[in-house]
Amino acid sequence: KLENATAKAELGRAAWKLFHTTMARFPEEPSADDSLALRTYIQLFARLYPCGDCAAHFQKLLRKYPPQTSGRNAAAGWACFVHNEVNHRLGKDEFDCNKIGDFYDCGCGDEDGKNKK
Ligand code: FAD
Repeated sequence: KLENATAKAELGRAAWKLFHTTMARFPEEPSADDSLALRTYIQLFARLYPCGDCAAHFQKLLRKYPPQTSGRNAAAGWACFVHNEVNHRLGKDEFDCNKIGDFYDCGCGDEDGKNKK
């Protein structure tokens, strides 16, 4: 089947949005289990990402720059960095990672990821 660049880009924007918003909601002081969960999530995201070519590149990137899961700031900073690595490879502009602060708002209206059920 022919490549559809529009669909590929749309998938990328949706995936990055979820990826960065997940980091923005990760605990500031995670438990060891939280950190393991994030590391596993990132590895599986890279393995199962629907664009095979993208997944292969991203897995290589993860081997070079292992996920930082010690806390929210480290995780968000790391995710911004690896997204910029992808941006560079695709000839896109670099994103200023100092601006990551409140850029990714989940709109959940709860406090710090502690969902009220
Ligand atoms: P995107 O890169 O999708 O970014 C969306 C928005 O996020 C931007 O508008 C900006 O507001 C913000 N943003 C930009 N950079 C950062 C950053 N560093 N940190 C935080 N926020 C940022 N496409 C391919 O053609 N080939 C590939 O090999 C490929 N690999 C990919 C691998 C992964 C894991 C993912 C998730 C996507 C991949 N894509 C790939 C898709 C590609 O990265 C883009 O998503 C797509 O080209 C659309 O680009 P865009 O310019 O709209 O912005």
